[in-house]
Amino acid sequence: MLGHSHATSGALAWAGAAAALPLSILTFPVAQAGHIGTVDLVMGTFLTAGAALLPDADHPSGTISHVLGPVSHAACKVISEVSGGHRHATHSFAFVIAVTAGTWAGEHWLHRWFTLALVFFLLALAVRALNLCPPGDGIRSYGTIVILAGAGTFAMDQWISDKPSWLPFAVGLGSLAHLAGDCLTDRGCRLFWPFKLRTRIPLVDRTGNKLETWILSPLFVLGTCALLWYTIIHHP
Ligand SMILES: [Zn+2]
Repeated sequence: MLGHSHATSGALAWAGAAAALPLSILTFPVAQAGHIGTVDLVMGTFLTAGAALLPDADHPSGTISHVLGPVSHAACKVISEVSGGHRHATHSFAFVIAVTAGTWAGEHWLHRWFTLALVFFLLALAVRALNLCPPGDGIRSYGTIVILAGAGTFAMDQWISDKPSWLPFAVGLGSLAHLAGDCLTDRGCRLFWPFKLRTRIPLVDRTGNKLETWILSPLFVLGTCALLWYTIIHHP
């Protein structure tokens, strides 16, 4: 699947979860009786969109690898080696649990700096995947990503709490949406890694097809907007 399909499916999953699930699930594992306001809902939408790119950290030529130039490329190469190649360890339920727990732990032990760094990184991924920057590998592309993600982080810094209780959920949900998308392709995913079983329901025949760009992604965006609107109207 293409980066923008993953990102928009992540946004849709977040909006759907916010509309359908009780607050205690959204804020798990903190499970505080807090309030998720409209601003949190909107921030969560962008951050879940970015998180939906995370599993492809095992892909040295994927979206995530090109997000911050040579730095992210080198990191993706290492992750690819360690995780056993594309669509192995990072495309499993174990990975979803690891990133969810990692976000929770980072928020709790490293506090606000961790939260803001994660916000910046997830926004950078979303900017890249949604093609909001010039294409290619040049400094124009990275520069635009850094400026847009930096501006977004600066804006969120005004509103986001030190330890947003919904952030671990958003990161896990984004990764889960990615796995669901990849399971619809020919190659499938090893959801139960380290077991060898491969899960696949091949509906999308080839990555990069027009169906994703002109039908799937626009529908996901429309669905996200509709669900957010519904949630904001019904849970003010
Ligand atoms: Zn993938």
